[in-house]
Amino acid sequence: MPTAKQIRSDFIDFFRDRGHEFIPSSPIVPVGDDTLLFANAGMNQFKDIFLGLSAPDCRRAVNSQKCLRVSGKHNDLEEVGKDTYHHTFFEMLGNWSFDDYFKAEAIEWAWELVTKVWGIDQDRLWARVFEGDETDGLDKDEEAARLWTKVTSISADRVLAFGKKDNFWAMGDTGPCGPCSEIDIDLGPDMCSMQHVPGHKCTLTGNCGRFMELWNLVFIQYNRDEDGKLTPLKAKYIDTGLGMERIVRVLQNKKSNYDTDLFMPIIDSLSDLTSRKYTSRLGNKSDNAFRVVADHMRAMVFAITDGATPSNEGRGYVIRRILRRAARFGRELGMHEPFMYKLVPVVVECLGDVFGEIAERAEYVSTVIQSEEQSFGRTLDRGIEIFNDAAEHAEKSAQKTISGEDAFRLYDTYGFPLDLTQLMATERSLEVDTTGFEKLMNEQRERARAAQKSATFTVADAELPLTEDLHKYHTDQCESTIISWVKSQGYSNQGRIEAAGNIGIVLDRTCFYAEAGGQVGDCGLIESEHGRFIVEDTTKIANCVIHQGKFAEGTFTVGEKVTATVSKDRNAIKKNHTATHLLQWALQQTLGKSVAQQGSLVGPQYLRFDFTWPKALTVEQIKKVEALVREKIAEDEPIVCRVMPRDKAEKLGAMALFGEKYGSEVRVVAIGTKNKSHLDEAFSKEFCGGTHVERIGSIGGFKITKEESISAGVRRITALTGEKLTEFLEKRSEIIDELCETLKVPAEDLIDRVEKLIKENKKLTKQLKSASKQTGVDVLAEAKKLLEKCEKLGETSVVVGRLSATSVEQARSAVDMVKKKAKSAAIVFGFDDDEKPALLAAVTDDLVKKGLSAADIVKAIAPIIDGGGGGRPQMAQAGGQNPEKINDALNKAAELIKSKLTNA
Ligand code: ATP
Ligand code: MG
Repeated sequence: MPTAKQIRSDFIDFFRDRGHEFIPSSPIVPVGDDTLLFANAGMNQFKDIFLGLSAPDCRRAVNSQKCLRVSGKHNDLEEVGKDTYHHTFFEMLGNWSFDDYFKAEAIEWAWELVTKVWGIDQDRLWARVFEGDETDGLDKDEEAARLWTKVTSISADRVLAFGKKDNFWAMGDTGPCGPCSEIDIDLGPDMCSMQHVPGHKCTLTGNCGRFMELWNLVFIQYNRDEDGKLTPLKAKYIDTGLGMERIVRVLQNKKSNYDTDLFMPIIDSLSDLTSRKYTSRLGNKSDNAFRVVADHMRAMVFAITDGATPSNEGRGYVIRRILRRAARFGRELGMHEPFMYKLVPVVVECLGDVFGEIAERAEYVSTVIQSEEQSFGRTLDRGIEIFNDAAEHAEKSAQKTISGEDAFRLYDTYGFPLDLTQLMATERSLEVDTTGFEKLMNEQRERARAAQKSATFTVADAELPLTEDLHKYHTDQCESTIISWVKSQGYSNQGRIEAAGNIGIVLDRTCFYAEAGGQVGDCGLIESEHGRFIVEDTTKIANCVIHQGKFAEGTFTVGEKVTATVSKDRNAIKKNHTATHLLQWALQQTLGKSVAQQGSLVGPQYLRFDFTWPKALTVEQIKKVEALVREKIAEDEPIVCRVMPRDKAEKLGAMALFGEKYGSEVRVVAIGTKNKSHLDEAFSKEFCGGTHVERIGSIGGFKITKEESISAGVRRITALTGEKLTEFLEKRSEIIDELCETLKVPAEDLIDRVEKLIKENKKLTKQLKSASKQTGVDVLAEAKKLLEKCEKLGETSVVVGRLSATSVEQARSAVDMVKKKAKSAAIVFGFDDDEKPALLAAVTDDLVKKGLSAADIVKAIAPIIDGGGGGRPQMAQAGGQNPEKINDALNKAAELIKSKLTNA
């Protein structure tokens, strides 16, 4: 039986032998393409070629593409686990012709590979072609139909024609498109899920489970314009997609994709973790949970590896939904604690040798998954209870619908994505009121928006002019003309600027840097004969630079000439920005290439850099990173910034930020090459529009002041350079000088000395504790003696005397002990409370009933020691000034008690 690995190689080798170049899969998170959340087909990375925007590097290509179909046009989430061949994550094997061969070869080769190389029985196979479409004025794809019978051995009655929905492929509403032709396989009547539905007939595109599409051959030969009109393309393309998991399942002779070596190791591990058995039955609840978790694991590992992290919007929310869905299915397998992160290694075991990136980032991925599982786990069980209540309620109602309020509450308080609630509802044959849910969501968004509204400017982009701002790269000062200004809700390009408070000035040209790419906006001054304007921040809306701030003096008029001067902070910002690039390079040198930038902040005070890494850096790692950066600073190499086409920059290996959108022209900042035309020699190359120093040496120094975690799998480093570093070090040095002075030791001995002090302190504290325990024991012994020797009036002990106690607590514990032992007692103790004389009196309840009161006793005797006090009849205390009179007070107390008790 061939392994999945073998099958993948068969495919690639087959097309390599036919002149195709192997192009590695593009990341599942598309770089520089915001129109798509995740790669969903092999053609994604070649899109610009079909659109005529870029030229292909080769005429024939082959690849195996990582795909995710959980959002947008292609969403197979609902199918997962219920059928045997739709996954969220899957591999698409494909071959391409860029204006080279066309339908004949595409059809012939596909058939040859499937039937000859892999030996699939041709009696199980069917072919589909496009039947034509009247509205589009297209005839049947006779060419393809003819070719099937001409270049393959398939019989004519097995080539069927289908309509636009199934057999015409388009990238979007406009652009390249064309008919397609598939190879489908008959899995046998047993696989039909509708066998028992009267009148059901299995068809190739009926989705009943009997026929499975294996391979889609797309013939891109038209372009659709804005009016929907089709014109033939000059260049024609072949774009094919063969489902890897599906072909593996056929060649391994399994009844389900999940039974292949692509999934079974994951399912086996899950079986070990849950101590449950997987029995491979469709429609079985527990088996279904196995399939969903295994499928979702692969999706999470690949998506997180390629840069998506769970969050509340966009790509991140898709990942969060997958994870939460899987966690909920985990509950059905009895898993109430985080468990999925433990499955990362087995996914890596299955696919890590083909997609090395998942092996490289496995630790990071499992940290992210574990932390998400933990946070959702806290509310999931409670959420399920809430859902069950809501479902019971819905079952009793006529509409059989979970209310929008309940769905929203589950979302908002318990973190249930809407599709999870829907899925759970479907399982109980219920619906969810999504309109109601959306309404509540919108209300919440509105509230958030209202809360967020600050002093920022609201102007329509279209109104704003373009500012020429390239001067920011070479100068700190420039002569400009005022062209307009904006205040909180308006834009004006005429007259005098009449505004108090915060406004934004727009110039025809500027040297101010507007906030972007983590670098803060510049501050500075704009002045003319008539006014001085303090710029507090600079931002950009579309291509218009807005200098935000206030007038310090006078005002300007539109059209007036002004001088714009950037504050000196700019120098510090440049140092920090270049240092950020050095830091990223040094981190990759130290920790490996899996370190990816997640964000940064470059300002005049410090720099901050966020990156993916699963755990805290060790002291050695931090030292190494610092040393590498400092070494480079000492070498004082130049920095070269150049604008070039994006693909050229990519080829240079310049690092881009994940998820950042770049135009066709990008600016590359390269460090470490003297030769401007040999940027490839530079050790650091990044896509970057920021301002930088000219030579690294001027950074002056570098130190990491903090390393911390900001979210699962993401660390943050804060560092200093230049003057701020000098200030920091000076301050530290002063602190040390002061410490030396106080402790009277030279700086070298400080650490020893402080350690010693801490040790001594610990020892003394311990001694003190045991000493006070000691006295506590003594006090109890004294009290016991007083009790033994005390005078008795009938059953009542009159215990009066001095204790060596040093606190009220000690005296109280003595009283408690005496009370317990004596049953009936009147007690008065004299002692020192923190060096002051004190008295404590107590009376058992039986005596209180007879009219004896501790408070009365204390009140009567406290004046003797020049003090006062009080309390309750059961217990009272007093403090005084005269320690010599304690015995007098005690004698008086004894007298009082005796007279009270004998007269009672
Ligand atoms: P289907 O009709 O089975 O959903 P499709 O028409 O959506 O397939 P294409 O978009 O043409 O498929 O993708 C090309 C190939 O990728 C398919 O022929 C199939 O083998 C495979 N494929 C598509 N979707 C999935 C999926 N969700 N899981 C696994 N393989 C898939
Ligand atoms: Mg599909």
